[in-house]
Amino acid sequence: MKLVMIGSGYVGLVSGACFADFGHEVVCVDKDETKIAALQSGKIPIFEPGLDHLVATGAASGRLTFTTEIGSAVADAHAVFIAVGTPSRRGDGHADMVYVYAAAREIAASLSGFTVIVNKSTVPVGTGDEVERIIREVNPAAEFAVVSNPEFLREGAAIDDFKRPDRVVIGGDDERGLAVMRQIYRPLALGRSPLIEMSRRGAELTKYAGNAFLATKITFINEMADLCEKVGADVLEVARGIGLDNRIGSKFLHAGPGYGGSCFPKDTLALLKTADDYDAPIRIVEAVVAANDRRKRLMGRKVIEAAGGDLRGRTVAILGLAFKPNTDDMRESPAIAIIQTLQDGGASIHAYDPQSIEQARGVLHDVDYFTDAYSAMAGCDALVIATEWDEFRALDLGRIKTLLREPVLVDLRNIYDRAAVEQHGLRYTAVGR
Ligand code: NAD
Repeated sequence: MKLVMIGSGYVGLVSGACFADFGHEVVCVDKDETKIAALQSGKIPIFEPGLDHLVATGAASGRLTFTTEIGSAVADAHAVFIAVGTPSRRGDGHADMVYVYAAAREIAASLSGFTVIVNKSTVPVGTGDEVERIIREVNPAAEFAVVSNPEFLREGAAIDDFKRPDRVVIGGDDERGLAVMRQIYRPLALGRSPLIEMSRRGAELTKYAGNAFLATKITFINEMADLCEKVGADVLEVARGIGLDNRIGSKFLHAGPGYGGSCFPKDTLALLKTADDYDAPIRIVEAVVAANDRRKRLMGRKVIEAAGGDLRGRTVAILGLAFKPNTDDMRESPAIAIIQTLQDGGASIHAYDPQSIEQARGVLHDVDYFTDAYSAMAGCDALVIATEWDEFRALDLGRIKTLLREPVLVDLRNIYDRAAVEQHGLRYTAVGR
């Protein structure tokens, strides 16, 4: 089938490359000319494991192409996916819909023949209705159906998530539109991924409900971790103890510095705004948002305390800047608030991340970047593990002890064993242990 992906970011590019791999013909569109020029010359503008290979294969087969021109691609397409950003609107936290609605207008002008417009971006309930209204207004003669198809992939494991999803959610009631969607996702049937059909509004809300639930699970174990510290329990034991209960499940029970990333923070806020609009408050998510915001700053305080209470004139090494491993995405990363708190406390920052230093330069100020973990920590007064990249999991503890000026290791991801760390003469602080 002929597909168009409007927006070639984490979601659009991964989805486009995977669909092309399944055998569909995919045109990835982006209004960012630099991004499209890079893709056309074989360069991948983001870091996502395996994506370079998948894009190269798709491009070589001729099934995956890139353009800044929406028009001709849309005219030929069976389905046009909207995969543009829906960031928090400045000032009020509502999802900012300007990119989605602009894309709808641009698509509308070029439609020809029956076309399915697919909202893949994470969008508030009712967006499908508004996209439909915009298209009708711009092009009253257009033959189309608008369906919701929220994306659940995780950065860092995006290709596997896209190709072997737990489920695919399709929302809409236009039978012609649904038939096209079933055809597009047919290759997934081999992997037995269930395709769930529901109302468009149900699909829109499912995405927010899923992210809010996961954010709640993370925040729950984080607060349990705080209690563990006070009562002398180990949150790893508690998490295992509850996670083996099938009704609870062990995923998303890793205590840490708070959730970040391009989705949970903005999606929880947007859900609360929708709840407000409809006068159906979701108190539990309100509490999650507040607790998580507070937590990121508290983690900076935790480092200051571990280092003796005063970091003025001292240097802290931060390992890991991205909001999680295997991505270069810095959006809302806990490392940002932690570093700012340390800087406010008078500390200088050394930092290393395997992939996100370029992105970090745009967000953080007055940070010295290094090309590996050991050179970042040399001469520092504390070492903080902020993101659990694999390469930080088996650092040479003896070498760390000789490189640090003060033997302070703050492990905000709980990837080390206290006894092993202390054996090397390092003072160890973790989360909830
Ligand atoms: P992104 O910022 O990485 O990419 C969005 C792209 O859209 C940008 O390259 C931008 O230039 C382009 N764009 C914006 N308006 C355009 C237009 N009118 N025409 C062409 N291109 C346009 O965003 P993302 O992380 O891929 O997220 C996209 C959507 O998917 C969001 O709604 C997000 O919430 C959702 N989502 C993201 C993830 C994730 O892990 N990143 C997972 C699931 C869902």
